[in-house]
Amino acid sequence: MTDLSIVGLGGSYRVLADGRAQPGHYTSAGNAIAALPGVQRRLRPITRRACLCCGQAFNSLGRGNRLCQPCKEEMA
Ligand SMILES: [Zn+2]
Repeated sequence: MTDLSIVGLGGSYRVLADGRAQPGHYTSAGNAIAALPGVQRRLRPITRRACLCCGQAFNSLGRGNRLCQPCKEEMA
């Protein structure tokens, strides 16, 4: 998971992802916080993978994510 933080600089706010400034300036901390889910979504690479359990293609959310949601729930 990317580490997101917000910094205020001279009256504008920026979102940092793992310490790197993301495009976009916000006029308040609240606006920057509201933008976080969108930034997070944009940063996350979406990979289609075949589930190791049932073989169904699904959107993998990360390197360790090899099972589709139904199979993951079944194993939990
Ligand atoms: Zn599966």
